[in-house]
Amino acid sequence: MKDCPWYGVLLIVFLAALSRPAGLLEEMQSRLGPYLMGNDTGVAADEIKTRFALDILGRHRPRFMTLHLSALDDAEHEHGPFSAEANEVLEATDGMLSRLIAAARANDPKAIAVVVSDHGFSSLTHRVNLLIPFIQAGLITMVHDADSPPQVTGWTAEPWLAGGMAAIMLRDPGDKATENKVRDLLQRLQADPNNGIAAVLDAEAVRQRAAFPGASFLVVMRPGYHAANATGGDMVADVTGHGGHGFAPDEPDMHASLVYVRPRHRPAPGPRGDRHAANCTHRRGAA
Ligand SMILES: [Zn+2]
Repeated sequence: MKDCPWYGVLLIVFLAALSRPAGLLEEMQSRLGPYLMGNDTGVAADEIKTRFALDILGRHRPRFMTLHLSALDDAEHEHGPFSAEANEVLEATDGMLSRLIAAARANDPKAIAVVVSDHGFSSLTHRVNLLIPFIQAGLITMVHDADSPPQVTGWTAEPWLAGGMAAIMLRDPGDKATENKVRDLLQRLQADPNNGIAAVLDAEAVRQRAAFPGASFLVVMRPGYHAANATGGDMVADVTGHGGHGFAPDEPDMHASLVYVRPRHRPAPGPRGDRHAANCTHRRGAA
């Protein structure tokens, strides 16, 4: 879908149709300039989202507002967590948060800001191209044409890649012969420490974790070993200067953040005499 040349146009039409009151996005764009064209996740896009959010805070004074800033995720994938590039984006994001919190506090001095991430990040050391052994085992068949990228022509089992994990889907989940063949393959792959596979879970263990509905197996990678999608070359390749997520949730690197920002100074209580009088009134009433 993202390869479609009309993707950006379609997305903005979709967002405009969802905006309430009707016509809000067009009206804001006439004053603030164009909104995002497509799923732009860079720092310039976060700046646009912040500009539109500040406008909503100033004009409509919402009591509750959410905003997704995504450039840090992009930068940590591209350059690794705590890289100079990622830290630069983090500082830019911090500036955006400061402006947003100030605007929310201008509306309500007691406004509380909550910053939450949806996952942590690991530095990557290897890419593990799990499709390759499935192709070699005949579980995925492909055609290689010199003029176009390789095309999948058939499959009985394939990995669905999810960063630090890969769900193994069977075309027919009741196909026991394929299930046994895949189990043997995964056990062989796990036995080689160079492949970076921490665990292989069966369908029941996957179901108990409420992960990947319908998966017959789940391959859990060791931190640093990212499931990747190359269909040729080496199965395991070294990588430096990148980051990833999707590893087991009990890995400390995967812990998410929750930051809760209250006003630095609590609003001053009412005049001391009033509060004293209220207490006295209460006591008298109780007596
Ligand atoms: Zn990400």
